[in-house]
Amino acid sequence: MIEVCWYPDVPAEIKAVAEPLIHRYLHLLPPWVKWLRVYYQDSGSAFINVQYRYRELKLTVAAGLLLGDEEFRRNTFLHEFAHAYTAPISDTATTSMRIALGEDHNALKIAEEAMDAVMESMTEDLATLFAKFN
Ligand SMILES: [Zn+2]
Repeated sequence: MIEVCWYPDVPAEIKAVAEPLIHRYLHLLPPWVKWLRVYYQDSGSAFINVQYRYRELKLTVAAGLLLGDEEFRRNTFLHEFAHAYTAPISDTATTSMRIALGEDHNALKIAEEAMDAVMESMTEDLATLFAKFN
């Protein structure tokens, strides 16, 4: 059971479009997720901060959600939820790269950019799969 906590600064009009979608797709989150905390910010549409160690997701919803249609909002949440699967892998790989590459900042920058690109692509592939079967 995932506990969803809405912070009071989420505007009612954003919550009205986000809440049904979040609850509709909650079952797609990995079983390690115990808490989903929902925050608000003015810019962008949504992003997620994955705290695997604490079994927690911090989802930030934003005013940009109101600019898109229902499909845009659905795909946005499916993508952010897919990060719950890919972020622990990405975080572990990034930590390992930092230890292995040490002070070689140029190599680290190249490796991190390559990692970000492939992880974002994998996240979107997973989100597409979610959309296909849900
Ligand atoms: Zn992403």
